[in-house]
Amino acid sequence: MENIDIWNKGLSLIKKDLNNDIFELWFKPTAFKSYDNGEINISVPNRYCGEWLKTNYYGLIKDALINITQERDIKINFIPDKDKEGIEKANIIKKEVINATSFREKGMLNRKYYFESFIVGPSNQFAHAAALAVAENPGKSYNPLFIYGGVGLGKTHLINAIGNHIIRNKPDVKIIYLTAEQFTNEVVAAIRYDKMYSFKEKYRSIDMLLVDDIQFFSGKDRSQEEFFYTFNTLYEAHRPVIITSDKYPKEMPDIEERLRSRFEWGLIADIQQPDFETRMAILKQKAEMENIKLPEDVMLFLVDTIKSNIRVLEGALIRLGAYSSLTGKAITVELAKDILKATIGDKEKTITSDAIQRAVADHFQIKLLELKAKKRTKNLVLPRQVAMYLCRELTNLSYPEIGKYFGGKDHTTVMHACRQIEKLKEKDSRLKDIIEALTKALKSQ
Ligand code: ADP
Ligand code: MG
Repeated sequence: MENIDIWNKGLSLIKKDLNNDIFELWFKPTAFKSYDNGEINISVPNRYCGEWLKTNYYGLIKDALINITQERDIKINFIPDKDKEGIEKANIIKKEVINATSFREKGMLNRKYYFESFIVGPSNQFAHAAALAVAENPGKSYNPLFIYGGVGLGKTHLINAIGNHIIRNKPDVKIIYLTAEQFTNEVVAAIRYDKMYSFKEKYRSIDMLLVDDIQFFSGKDRSQEEFFYTFNTLYEAHRPVIITSDKYPKEMPDIEERLRSRFEWGLIADIQQPDFETRMAILKQKAEMENIKLPEDVMLFLVDTIKSNIRVLEGALIRLGAYSSLTGKAITVELAKDILKATIGDKEKTITSDAIQRAVADHFQIKLLELKAKKRTKNLVLPRQVAMYLCRELTNLSYPEIGKYFGGKDHTTVMHACRQIEKLKEKDSRLKDIIEALTKALKSQ
C-alpha cells in the first residue's frame, strides 16, 4: 500500500461514521502529507480546521488509521497549509461550506424509518399517537412536540417517521432534520466563515424543523442561543418544531431556562421501556426484515436478556445472523449466550441469587426458607415472584436455573412470575418503588 492510500482509505472509513455534511466540511479539504514511523502528517486548510479535527475527531481518525495500518499506535499531526491560506483558496473553502450547509433537507431524513415499521405497544403508544398527529396535521397540532425517552427506544425512528410521512404526502414541504450536534457544527462553521446571516435566513425559510438529541445542547451556549431564535421565529409563524431528547426538560441543568420553558409549551410525550410483548414483536419484525431465522427459544432468550435498549437487541440479532451465516452453525441459545457475553454487564454478574433472596426476604420480613418453600400462602407468593424477577433481571441465570434456587420449581413457574411482576409493576407504583429500591441496594453491595 502506498502511503498516500493510508489517508484515502482512512477517509472512506471515517466517512461511514459521519454525517455527509460534516465530512464535506471538515474532512474533504484535508490532504495526505507524509507518513513515517507511526506518525502521519495531514495537511489542513488552516490552523482552525486542524484544531477542530483534533478536538472533535481525533479518536475517530486514530481508530480508522490504526485499523488500516495495523500499527499499535499512531500519532496524527494536522499541518495548516500555507498555500491554501491565500485569498483565492479561502474563497473556495467558503463556497464549499455554503454548499455543504445549504438545503439538504430531504436527503437528511433517514429513509429507513417509517410509521409502518414502528411497533406500537403500551410503552410508546402515546409518543406514537402524538407523532402521528403532528405528521398528519402539521401546524394544527401540538407545537413543539417534545419526544423524550431512554437511549435506543425509538426516538430517532419516530422523528424521522414524521418527516418521511409529510414528505410522502407533500414532497415540496421544506423540512430540515438534523441532530443538535449537526446544528452546533453549522453554528460554528457559520461563525467561522462569517455566514451567520445566511444561516439565519436558511432556518427562517423552512416549513418545519426536526431536531434530534437536543440534550447535546447542554453547555453549548452559543448554539442554544441560535436555536432559541430559530425556535421563536418558527413558533411564531406556526411552523412545527419537533424535538427529541434522552432527558426530560427539567433534567437538563445546562440548558438555559428560557429554552427549557419553550420545550414545555407544547406536548411532551415520553417513550418508556418496552414490555415483553413489544420487545418480542420488534425482534420478530427485525428478524424478518433482515431475513434471519431465529428459533423461538433464542428469541425468548434475547428478549428476556436485553430489555432496556432496542438498538442493543437489534445489534445482537445482526451479530447472531452474521455469525451463523459465516460459520454455518445453527443459532442456539448457547451461541447467543456466548455472543452476548460482552453485552450483558459485568457488574450484574456479581449479584448472586442468594443475595437477592436475602434482600427480598428481609424486605418482606419473611424467612429465607419460606421464600424457597413450596407453600403457596398469599403473603409468600408476591415476595417469591419479586425475588425470581430480580434474579432474572440482575443475574445471568436461566429460568430453569432460577427454579432450582427456589426449591426446585419448574421453569414455567419462574417465567410466569417474571411476566406477572412486569405487569404488576406497571400498575402498582408502590411495587415499582420497592423493586427499584431493592435493585439499587443490590447493585451497590
Ligand atoms: P433512540 O433514537 O431513541 O436512541 P432509535 O430510534 O435509534 O433510538 O431506535 C433504535 C433502533 O430500535 C432502531 O433501529 C429502531 O428502528 C428500533 N426501534 C425502536 N423502537 C422501535 C419500535 N417501537 N418498533 C420498531 N423498531 C423500533
Ligand atoms: Mg437517536
